[in-house]
Amino acid sequence: MGIEAYRKAAKDLIDWICDYYARVEKLPVRSEVEPGYLPPLMPRKAPDAPEGVEAVMSDIKSKILPGLTHWQSPNFFAFFPANSSFPAMLGDMLSGALSVMGFLWSGSPAATELETIVLDWLAKLLNLPSCFLAYGPDGNLGRGGGVIQGTASETVLVALLAAQARVMAERPAEDRQRLVCYSSNQAHSSIKKACMVAGTTHCRLILARPELDYALDPADLSAAIDKDIASGLIPFYLVGTIGSTSSCAVDPIADLAAIARKHSMWFHIDAAFAGVTAMLPEMQHYFAGLELADSFNTNAHKWLLTNFDCSCMWVQDAEPLKAALSLMPAFLRAKGNAYDFKDWQIPLGRRFRSLKLFFVLRMYGKHKLQQYLRHHIALGELFAGLVRKDNRFEIVTPPRFALTCFVLKGPLGNETAALVDAVNQSGRAFMISTELSGQTVARFAIGGAQTQQRHVRAAWQLICEAADGLLATARA
Ligand code: PLP
Repeated sequence: MGIEAYRKAAKDLIDWICDYYARVEKLPVRSEVEPGYLPPLMPRKAPDAPEGVEAVMSDIKSKILPGLTHWQSPNFFAFFPANSSFPAMLGDMLSGALSVMGFLWSGSPAATELETIVLDWLAKLLNLPSCFLAYGPDGNLGRGGGVIQGTASETVLVALLAAQARVMAERPAEDRQRLVCYSSNQAHSSIKKACMVAGTTHCRLILARPELDYALDPADLSAAIDKDIASGLIPFYLVGTIGSTSSCAVDPIADLAAIARKHSMWFHIDAAFAGVTAMLPEMQHYFAGLELADSFNTNAHKWLLTNFDCSCMWVQDAEPLKAALSLMPAFLRAKGNAYDFKDWQIPLGRRFRSLKLFFVLRMYGKHKLQQYLRHHIALGELFAGLVRKDNRFEIVTPPRFALTCFVLKGPLGNETAALVDAVNQSGRAFMISTELSGQTVARFAIGGAQTQQRHVRAAWQLICEAADGLLATARA
């Protein structure tokens, strides 16, 4: 494809994307195709001769689109949001087009330096303690700073590897088998996975307490640690969560940090979804004690208008990360590599991901971003209020950060799962269920970039209609 052909095709594609965004709210939110729908529609091998972009786009429209669940639909209330925005898409398009590799500073100095600057900007916007900033007041790089990982799961793993490097620095190799990682059982499954990947055999998922709104009780944590130490194990890594996946539970960060300090453990805070609310003064209480954490993470690709992937991680001290992840084969030796992000992550290759965040932070600015988050939080309160007013439903844990968990009360006890199915089958909204204390609960997560009050009210109407039908059937 030549430059002029690309210019035309790209403009056409932008037109198509704009039309898609204009009509996405009308599309069935969840794809209803069956597993294996696509292979019969596709050739068995790539073409021998070149095809035109029209042929490719024709297949996108007729064969791919039906297999999409529309995460950017304003009627998407499942999981957590995966925000996109036009400014972020511009940055991402540019990143794809420039196609530079940022693993070495010298590979593209701007890629490394802009990422550091943008993460300092975001850290300040989020009111993170200055110990997480890369640049000190003198303008020089300090020991820590921010880095963009692909996902929060990678961040949990990278922090675990740093924790392991730090604790093992002066220990015999056989002590690795005695290391113990801790979090609550409400923390994300990526912690268990990180332990699987790193070969950490002791992973304690401590039962979070329903009476503490599913937060980890520091006394339970201390008791588990004391027991492990008494049996010869070594606590080394603690993950606290601000905004758990199931119910947006918040662990008591300052208390957990004190325990981590006492036992010289690495303390990582996973705030993948809710962390961006640290930019709101009224949410600051959730983040008290952050200065005592070794690392902090929030995903700009969840609720900060930045297309996947953009998981922002900050560390107070990058040395343990580098100890865990730095290798310097001959082919990577280059001049001026004081600051190479290859040493802060697992893969070697890395895209120029900070560009999209750069566009977002500049083109929205602090006040619009705060307004954006408050808009969703207010919609969350509206939804929770509607649920509360209807005595067929019960809210099971305090709604937080625009997430509401609730059940439909009925004679059979399985009405909530059926309710979620009925809503999803309608195609007019999409939500998921989860389990809290063995009970199936419906989970309504607000945060879509295009979601407005009318979408939340329409979804509530749909939920009520589905409940009417289910309760009538159950009682018949
Ligand atoms: N941590 C929390 C609290 C989450 O809610 C999620 C995903 O929803 C993750 C981690 C994993 O995020 P990622 O998909 O970026 O790995």
